[in-house]
Amino acid sequence: MIIDSHVHVCFNSKLFRKIAKDNDIEFSFDGLTKEMEDNGISKVVALASYISGFEITNEHLIKIASRDDRIFPVGSIDPDSKNLNSLEEHLKKKHLRGVKIYSGYMQYGPNEPFLEAVYELCERYGVPVLFHTGDTLTSSGKLKHALPILIDEIATDHRRMKIVLCHFGNPWIMDAAELLYKNPNVLADLSGLVVGNDTRYTPKYIKSLRDSIKQAIAFIGKVEGKIIFGSDWPVCRIDKSLEFIRSLGIDRKEEELVLGINAQKLFGA
Ligand SMILES: [Zn+2]
Repeated sequence: MIIDSHVHVCFNSKLFRKIAKDNDIEFSFDGLTKEMEDNGISKVVALASYISGFEITNEHLIKIASRDDRIFPVGSIDPDSKNLNSLEEHLKKKHLRGVKIYSGYMQYGPNEPFLEAVYELCERYGVPVLFHTGDTLTSSGKLKHALPILIDEIATDHRRMKIVLCHFGNPWIMDAAELLYKNPNVLADLSGLVVGNDTRYTPKYIKSLRDSIKQAIAFIGKVEGKIIFGSDWPVCRIDKSLEFIRSLGIDRKEEELVLGINAQKLFGA
């Protein structure tokens, strides 16, 4: 069983349509289900976003997910209108399986006081919070809000809440590793790592990335309940992301945990 824990379905986004085209991806509902079948993916976790450029509201996402029960929707918070009430309704009805916070893209970090209410909701309904960590897709993002280390305080103060560091904090991979090692409630996904068109630097980048992730896993000492597979489709190709994980040299049992079992437990998928 393979679960891709990080995909985007903002099919109206011009930016994502261009990225998809560059990656030779058919960015549509049918394109997604076809790619799932081609790559043996049983479920995907799709993310809402209120970030301009790749916006898709919670309600729109829920509608898309209602077309196929293999799509698990994770909501987000509107940085302006603070859609807390409707978010709570969706979590209560299990229409949303988690909340993604786009630290780095918003004008505030994960410690912004109003987010406390979001964390309380996630604790109450037993769903994970996913944070963007590390490099941002657009240069308008602010890295100071996307540092993995900022999330340590939240992980410590909300022990019952599961937290996912998206993109493993790349390039602050060892900072993310320390958070995973220290905090029993923190995981990381491997999404958005295998990016870019093939250039002469690509093989060198992939090698250094592989070495960093291997080093991080060795430091954490286990993958169980710690690391989950995500592609970041259509920012990255699903096949290339799977190829990367299979090149990490982890044993079969560990690979099964990373590819599906850890995410199944996390999202109740
Ligand atoms: Zn993403």
